[in-house]
Amino acid sequence: MKYVDEFRDPTTARQLVAEIRSTATQRWVLMEVCGGQTHGLLRHGIESELRDTVELIHGPGCPVCVTPIAAIDFAQELAMRDNVVVASFGDMLRVPGSRNSLLNVRGAGGHLKIVYSPLDAVTLAQRHPDQQVVFFAVGFETTAPATALAVLQAERLNLKNFSLLVSHVRVQPAMEGLMDSPDNRVQAFLAAGHVCTITGIASYDAFVRRYKVPVVVTGFEPIDLLEGILECIRQLETGRKEVSNRYARSVSRAGNLSAQDLVTQVYEVDDRPWRGFGTIPCGGYSLRSEYRQFDAEKRFGHVSLYSQLPILGVEVCRAADVLAGRLRPTACPEFGTGCTPESPLGAPMVSSEGACAAYYQYDSAGRPPDLSQSKSDKSISVSPNSSSDVSTVATGVSKK
Ligand code: SF4
Repeated sequence: MKYVDEFRDPTTARQLVAEIRSTATQRWVLMEVCGGQTHGLLRHGIESELRDTVELIHGPGCPVCVTPIAAIDFAQELAMRDNVVVASFGDMLRVPGSRNSLLNVRGAGGHLKIVYSPLDAVTLAQRHPDQQVVFFAVGFETTAPATALAVLQAERLNLKNFSLLVSHVRVQPAMEGLMDSPDNRVQAFLAAGHVCTITGIASYDAFVRRYKVPVVVTGFEPIDLLEGILECIRQLETGRKEVSNRYARSVSRAGNLSAQDLVTQVYEVDDRPWRGFGTIPCGGYSLRSEYRQFDAEKRFGHVSLYSQLPILGVEVCRAADVLAGRLRPTACPEFGTGCTPESPLGAPMVSSEGACAAYYQYDSAGRPPDLSQSKSDKSISVSPNSSSDVSTVATGVSKK
């Protein structure tokens, strides 16, 4: 496929692996911030191939995973009310709240509509003026512009039956929280390319100056990830601490200014609770006062949503440790036994960007034995000892 194959080329991948190995004089600890990167690293066998050379800690960049239980419970409660429809992306459906998932609630008669964009939810509200439509606005800086646009569209249409349950979070404050943690082990970051496409990379300058760690922006294809790892190790080996953009085909220094303007117009930066982290200062967005009429929490009279229910959760799920990089998913006692994608105990097992889901699908160390089925989905192996020849590998790339 044009523009993609060159970033999945097995020969280039193996050269990069060899270069990473020859450059590293010690086992450096890197964190890939985004769940999409985690899936790429596992899916293409990069994590296991480089395990002896680099420790990859999986970061909190899965927006579904860090959505507080309280927000999920509130969405479920709204879906059970008369004349209220909750509109959501499909990846929130099976995420457990404190007792149920939205899917369970729909099975029990709750009103839930899967949409593919926030504007679909606006259209839904237009078509059903007798119903209150609440869009569950989950995501990082990448999705906030689209929900901001939905709010402006609803305002233009003078809709009184559209609102947002806002759970938008910002990546960089979470990275700061990780670096400030006394048990932090991260020596360099692979920053999320899609977030930087919106935000740009200029804001990382101050971060690098303050924490003295390399920040390398990457895409999600195997060559992107390997180049990012190599750049981190080169910086670490030579004592440099810089922001480096290895995803220049998508990310610019300033980012997408139009998208940033939309977000600034509709939202303000606010303290936000992250599941597994507690409240992170400036960790998310809230609607500006001019747009509070579109705030579902205000409209439905739910006061202090986030202070009423436990943020960290009380379940056996160890998502908090997984999201903070303290626990490898396969080390969770429930992994693959009590917790599977079919019967998840926590969001990281069911989200498409969840670290537990990535290990369940792709890692040979995982349980149960039928994981071997998933291994056939692995797109390329970067191992020089792989039995796949280049032509087989090049055509065997699975499309995510
Ligand atoms: S394997 Fe399941 S129970 Fe364990 S941390 Fe992951 S999502 Fe939670």
